[in-house]
Amino acid sequence: MKLFNSLTQHKEEFQPLEPGVVRLYSCGPTVYDFPHIGNLRTFLFGDVLCRTLRHKGFEVRQVMNLTDVDDKTIARSIREGVTLQEYTERYTQYFFEDLNTMRIEPAWQYPKATEHIPQMLELIKMLEDKGHAYEREGSVYFDISSFPKYGRLSGVSAEERADSGFGRLDSDEYERDAAQDFVLWKAAKEGEPSWDSPWGPGRPGWHIECSAMSRELLGDTLDIHTGGVDLLFPHHENEIAQSEAATGKPFVRLWLHGEHLLVDGMKMSKSLGNFHTLRDLLDKGYDAMAIRHQLLTAHYRHQLNFTLEGVDQSAQAIARLWDFADRLDELQPSETHNDEVSQAVAKAREDFEAALDDDLNIPGVTGTVFEVMKVANPALVEGALDQQNVDEIKAFLQVADSILGFIAHEKQSLDTEIEGLIEERNQARKDRNFARADEIRDQLLAQGIVLEDSAQGTRWRREV
Ligand code: AMP
Ligand code: ZN
Repeated sequence: MKLFNSLTQHKEEFQPLEPGVVRLYSCGPTVYDFPHIGNLRTFLFGDVLCRTLRHKGFEVRQVMNLTDVDDKTIARSIREGVTLQEYTERYTQYFFEDLNTMRIEPAWQYPKATEHIPQMLELIKMLEDKGHAYEREGSVYFDISSFPKYGRLSGVSAEERADSGFGRLDSDEYERDAAQDFVLWKAAKEGEPSWDSPWGPGRPGWHIECSAMSRELLGDTLDIHTGGVDLLFPHHENEIAQSEAATGKPFVRLWLHGEHLLVDGMKMSKSLGNFHTLRDLLDKGYDAMAIRHQLLTAHYRHQLNFTLEGVDQSAQAIARLWDFADRLDELQPSETHNDEVSQAVAKAREDFEAALDDDLNIPGVTGTVFEVMKVANPALVEGALDQQNVDEIKAFLQVADSILGFIAHEKQSLDTEIEGLIEERNQARKDRNFARADEIRDQLLAQGIVLEDSAQGTRWRREV
């Protein structure tokens, strides 16, 4: 399977270092608020990647960090008058709930920054001992002039760095032209949580967190590292500098970056105020699987413009898919095998694998499912599918769903079931099979459904 490596700017055939086992690190959320669905697009990309790797037979060890100490979490917990831990725990739970709603499969581990301070201190000490870090007034900085490879991932050149002059940056996020020495450890400020260190009390910078926790749980060299494109610089550039300068080993073999979810051409973000949370959308009546489908309509390396009309279209596509799966379930198979449908399913299976192998082409994968539906639907309506056809289609849908995750669903609503029984009862009455008709009436009554017969036909209502 080929994946596009941001470091080499090429699609590369993927093989993990240890045969059969993939060590994968995904930058996770800062747990200071509800994630917006742009964030969820990036986590969903990680989910689909892990599902695909499992489908290809790999054991996947995915680690996703939870940033539970930074400027935002500290400021908000102080504003609310609760401890940092109380505050971040609440949003961590909301984050897990959202993942679950979106059918994003759990990572192998979710390390919290505050629970790995010793590992971060150890890494900073290694950097200091090797001459890559220095202390100023209780803070520790990474000396980027000591790491000539700095800028390889993001393409920030040595000249650009020289132009930006010298200086030290305490802020975790900064512009490309400010590629200056970045902070590893921040000296404690009045009223903020802090931890002891060889350089005095303080707290870790954001970048060191990922270098330390990935090393702790996955080792010095990772097979894959994922995140949104906005993390490429400075975050991932700094992770490489920290990890490789400390261990002397390659940090990541394959860098994958997911593109942004946009609104009217702008990145969906908290700061622009143009965001939707999953909960907002669910409250407005949108279905989580329609949102999942919508977020998967673009390739992960392409931007996707988010609109509510898009979610409506996805809802329609999903409804058709679910209806197809339900009717397939209820079909009385015919005796004759349908070759055309069989061949269409076989072709879809091939196209499905080819799409996955081509840098995780999920829109292509979804396309194979709808292609099967297009060919099989007319035959399904006519009842022209035999048991083998049904089994083949179901098996394909199951494999497709192991990646897409939006096909499985609760059986169609009770209403369709009731309508079906009413139809059967009408037929029974026409056939003067009153015993069967009464049986159905009683069966529905037992479920609290009352039938009312009139000249216009039979209506039903729920007993109150
Ligand atoms: P944060 O919680 O802000 O650290 O972000 C969590 C993840 O969401 C990171 O991997 C970001 O790159 C990603 N992200 C932020 N905004 C967007 C967006 N509009 N579209 C896609 N991913 C995003
Ligand atoms: Zn990270």
